[in-house]
Amino acid sequence: MTRVVILGGGFGGLAAAQELAGRCQVTLVDRRKWFEYLPAIHELVSGVKKPEHLRLPLAELVARMGHRFLLDEVARIEPDNHRIDLVSGGSLPYDLLIMALGGVDATQRVTGARDHARFFKSVDDCAGIGSRLAELAGKNRVFDVVVVGGGLEGVETLGEILRRFRSYESIRIHLVDGARRLLRDAPPEVDRHLRSLIQPYGVELLLQERVIEVTEGTVRLHSGREIPSDLTIWTGGIGPPPVLERSGLTGGPGEWLEVGQTLQSIEQEGLFGVGDLVSLPGGLSKQAYHALDMGRLAARNLERLVAGRSLLPFVPSAKPMLLSFGDLSGYLIWEGKVLEGTAVNLAKESVYQLVMGRFDPPSPRRSLGRLGSRLAAAGRELVWPTLSSVGRLVGMGRLRVLAWR
Ligand SMILES: Cc1cc2nc3c(=O)[nH]c(=O)nc-3n(C[C@H](O)[C@H](O)[C@H](O)COP(=O)(O)OP(=O)(O)OC[C@H]3O[C@@H](n4cnc5c(N)ncnc54)[C@H](O)[C@@H]3O)c2cc1C
Repeated sequence: MTRVVILGGGFGGLAAAQELAGRCQVTLVDRRKWFEYLPAIHELVSGVKKPEHLRLPLAELVARMGHRFLLDEVARIEPDNHRIDLVSGGSLPYDLLIMALGGVDATQRVTGARDHARFFKSVDDCAGIGSRLAELAGKNRVFDVVVVGGGLEGVETLGEILRRFRSYESIRIHLVDGARRLLRDAPPEVDRHLRSLIQPYGVELLLQERVIEVTEGTVRLHSGREIPSDLTIWTGGIGPPPVLERSGLTGGPGEWLEVGQTLQSIEQEGLFGVGDLVSLPGGLSKQAYHALDMGRLAARNLERLVAGRSLLPFVPSAKPMLLSFGDLSGYLIWEGKVLEGTAVNLAKESVYQLVMGRFDPPSPRRSLGRLGSRLAAAGRELVWPTLSSVGRLVGMGRLRVLAWR
């Protein structure tokens, strides 16, 4: 029997496992007990969502698909021996492998960042940021929060901080980014609109700036400026997991796993790569919806490889980016087109409910309970505050065109 292993139970790995359910037996390895819905982890900062709303138990999900789950960390892959070395000391042989290990926080080797900044890559990270903010706000003294990064994650985090703490006079918020505008890849109208929204709350934007050092109480910038910081939140991009280089699967540090259009590794026939981990010809943004599509295709191609059939190419689907800005606004960005309004946040919430429901269909009683808890939280934190305020309800129905090219 062909031994199929999937490394990583995030979007890409779990989608691949689901596609192979009932077709072949798979071992899925992850160092976490949970699948985590990363595109909504910023909502933990304001408390709109709780950790249990963003996690699903991998062992239960994978068992329901008819596969085996192994809770362990991958130390190294030995592609020539078709073996995976695990941190627990064991090893796992395979015939065919799907790698879906995602990325790690890139600190761009900034001194002190690893020790003194809070990262933004897991449910625990963001729940910790929310708790620290609540603790600082409870102390009745002025405190400084520095958000490093003005991309999607940095902006969404800023929105959540403002959702919960904008009425606090004691908070001083600073956002640092190397670009000239927020969300550098989006049309400039988004940056202009965001600035108008944050202007009343005195958020300091430090653009075209670079962080060179983080200490326990400060953030030092390239320009020489030193900002006091009680909480430094690092959202400055992701890099490849070190296990790739350690396994000789890339040419050097900072390189992603190179795959062809069929998601097969360019060097190893029996190895497929999906999600954030891979570099595709022509490049592709690192998004959950691409990871889901890649996971499904890699699973189908794996079966085709076994059957001796030709492999199918990955054709990225064109989907709009949905960006929430706390309860102040939301943006649907699609190439040169931008729609703005809080209705976008309900669209984003629906995507979350759909993906979670797809991985965790509400048939067993426990799944039904989890679905109920997610829907109750959405009603309590998002829908009810909107319905109970006439102003917001009117705003809800107003979706403005910010740009149309
Ligand atoms: C804050 C934030 C906001 C985002 N917003 C959006 C959005 O709005 N829309 C969108 O489409 N995308 C968004 N993304 C991106 C999206 O989350 C990623 O593209 C997606 O998670 C990639 O899926 P993946 O399966 O490749 O990796 P992941 O989901 O990161 O899963 C990787 C899995 O591998 C496991 N793993 C890693 N290393 C090891 C190891 N050595 N051993 C064992 N297990 C290991 C991890 O525990 C994890 O479960 C956002 C990401 C973040 C962080």
